[in-house]
Amino acid sequence: MNIVLMGLPGAGKGTQADKIVEKYDIPHISTGDMFRAAIKDGTELGLKAKSFMDQGALVPDEVTIGIVRERLSKADCEDGFLLDGFPRTVPQAEALESLLADIGKRIEHVVNIKVDQDELIARLTGRWICKVCGTAYHTVFNPPQVAGVCDKDGGELYQREDDKPDTVKNRLEVNMEQTQPLLDFYGSKGVLENINGQQDIQKVFADIDALLKGDRG
Ligand code: ADP
Ligand code: ADP
Repeated sequence: MNIVLMGLPGAGKGTQADKIVEKYDIPHISTGDMFRAAIKDGTELGLKAKSFMDQGALVPDEVTIGIVRERLSKADCEDGFLLDGFPRTVPQAEALESLLADIGKRIEHVVNIKVDQDELIARLTGRWICKVCGTAYHTVFNPPQVAGVCDKDGGELYQREDDKPDTVKNRLEVNMEQTQPLLDFYGSKGVLENINGQQDIQKVFADIDALLKGDRG
């Protein structure tokens, strides 16, 4: 199953992606995670991405499309994949269509998780992430069993620089402006599937799962 997961920062993409990939046994491809890993490893890609990310700007399309093309060509994507954070621009969506068409594939689901702005701000400013596995927790809505420690691997939790209250509002506004053309793009093709993200984590997953099962027959 080939899936694109959309939603503003804080909508719960990462949280739901973990559940989807576990159930459907497909790789979770997050361009944000790939860029952060490249920066941490000090690779050439990391150097290219860092200056854009630090400014809260998008990494240029040619760089981003290049890493996705390479990732989708790997054997583990054969039976499906979940894209999270890509595409984020109309040119990226067009490039994705054409690179999939070249290998006889297409996107089967574009799932858009919808959450109000006030709730997004509350979620982002309370988000803490495991340094080891990247799992996201929330100090109030989804706390770990022991404060500051990951339930899965005992890793230390940290707060992303861009999740601090000063930057969150601006980041949401910029992101909203940027993603609207993409929502219009998929909307006009009639493939956009909206999910109410303002429900508890299990209920959001149940709704997404029902959608995905729809085409499995
Ligand atoms: P995204 O990947 O879309 O930016 P995350 O999955 O990281 O979003 O979730 C953002 C924050 O909100 C995290 O702290 C997460 O624990 C919390 N969260 C995710 N889903 C829900 C939900 N349905 N209700 C309340 N909090 C949630
Ligand atoms: P957020 O949802 O807060 O933007 P992500 O983890 O998805 O967080 O992305 C972090 C940063 O990585 C973005 O601000 C951007 O600089 C870069 N990035 C991620 N995905 C893309 C993409 N598809 N196109 C361009 N830049 C991207």
